[in-house]
Amino acid sequence: MTDKVFCYHCRTYHPVAEVTLVHSKGSKRWRCFKSIASSRGSTAQRDAFGKSVSAANRASSSRQAARPLPRPVLELLWRMPENMPGLA
Ligand SMILES: [Zn+2]
Repeated sequence: MTDKVFCYHCRTYHPVAEVTLVHSKGSKRWRCFKSIASSRGSTAQRDAFGKSVSAANRASSSRQAARPLPRPVLELLWRMPENMPGLA
């Protein structure tokens, strides 16, 4: 077991070639590259997810801003009963 070190992230032993020393809470610990890469990947995925959500929010708010009918159309709708006595 001399060529293996304890990975604090996986709580298991990895070959020395697969781990690196990281600073965690003021102490140095061994952590494998795989766990570091996976946590970075999840952070990137979270960032990408957050960006897609905020982009969707922007898109929906701009759609809502564009949705109200132009004033001439609204005025036409308000006048409609007068112009159509049969419906008034
Ligand atoms: Zn590990």
